[in-house]
Amino acid sequence: MKLPTLPSTASSVATTNKVSHLFDLQKARADTPACEKLIHFNNAGASLMPQPVYQAVLDHLQLEQTIGGYEAAAENADKLDSFYSAFANLLNASRDEIAFVENATRAWDMAVYAIPWRAGDRVLVHQSEYSSNYLALLQLAREKRIQIDQVPSGSDGAIDLEQLQEMIHPQTRAIFLTYVPSQSGLVNPAGEVGDIARDNNLLYVLDACQAAGQMPIDVQQIGCDILSGTGRKFLRGPRGTGFLYVRKERLDTLEPPFIDLHSAAWTADHDYEFQANARRFENWECFAAGKIGLAAAANYAMEVGLSQIQQRVFSLAQTLRTELSTIDCVKVHDPGSQRCGIVTFSCENKDAEKLVAELRAEGINTSVTARRNARLDFQQRKVPSAVRASLHYFNNDDEIANFCQVIESKLHQ
Ligand SMILES: *Cc1c(COP(=O)(O)O)cnc(C)c1O
Repeated sequence: MKLPTLPSTASSVATTNKVSHLFDLQKARADTPACEKLIHFNNAGASLMPQPVYQAVLDHLQLEQTIGGYEAAAENADKLDSFYSAFANLLNASRDEIAFVENATRAWDMAVYAIPWRAGDRVLVHQSEYSSNYLALLQLAREKRIQIDQVPSGSDGAIDLEQLQEMIHPQTRAIFLTYVPSQSGLVNPAGEVGDIARDNNLLYVLDACQAAGQMPIDVQQIGCDILSGTGRKFLRGPRGTGFLYVRKERLDTLEPPFIDLHSAAWTADHDYEFQANARRFENWECFAAGKIGLAAAANYAMEVGLSQIQQRVFSLAQTLRTELSTIDCVKVHDPGSQRCGIVTFSCENKDAEKLVAELRAEGINTSVTARRNARLDFQQRKVPSAVRASLHYFNNDDEIANFCQVIESKLHQ
């Protein structure tokens, strides 16, 4: 099936979301040239860079090619430095609390492996925790002898706040939470968990990988101590970029597991000191063009407006869920009382991987979440594997209608 050229008219906005008539869909789609050729519902995997972000990366690469890498960094020192202001603004943090890291996993690791764990420490987690984070906790359980306590879900599928409160033990040191899981439309109550962490003086580690760029994030309101995220997903930055936030008051208690001549100063023959700010978690060598591109992506998202983005993304996804659930044999799996731009579903008689490949052949991008990548969550919710369709604000109602039509045709083949 050949996809028709999709119109990018303001009328699609009006039917989807009557409140946000200020949202400029036409500009969003014009800045995203692939919209002409693709239905990109894989924004939780890697979104499409908007034109100004792509240009910012290219410009720096070109400068490197023209005058040399170190020389380009010197010339673009202001742009590189603006990364810290951009993320301080995005998260309501201060510049000293921000680090540039190559991805969200390593950002999270650099902070979590820096916690001075003692044998017998306990941590609280939820079934929706990201798989790489959970693997790291398993390693810490094995190596440092910490104990992992899983907080059950409430009836809405989110972390149960009452049980969380009750499960706090004198040995409990930290709460780990994934704000928006990779594998469903759930939005966990990050702020309420922050209140509990604060009241009990627990370290609070929040994975905001799928939340960043999809909704406003305010670290003061949430009260997290450590927050990690990636560039390529809803933030629409380049691949191979990520960021870390660490609360000022916690910095001195965290000694990064790796050290280099950027994160620390060699102060005497037999002595060194880590940087006083969050740059102690960075590497000296980094993807400079990516850092500039990620700053541009954060600024672009703020220009569109995070509340506007949230409103539109959540509402588009809800439209898709409603449409999908009218198709025979399709089961939508997203838990939560408030659901985000990630839509997960499976089809009877059709393997998720096969369906994703067939969609790909039609110019529709989605992805698969296999059970092995969401072990605790999928087991407990009895989800086999799922197709993940993740929508962004540049998607529109026509794409949703097209998508459902194609799904229906594939199921009846
Ligand atoms: C993708 C993802 C990560 C990992 O991000 P990387 O940049 O690939 O390391 C972490 N947490 C969640 C919830 C994710 O979806």
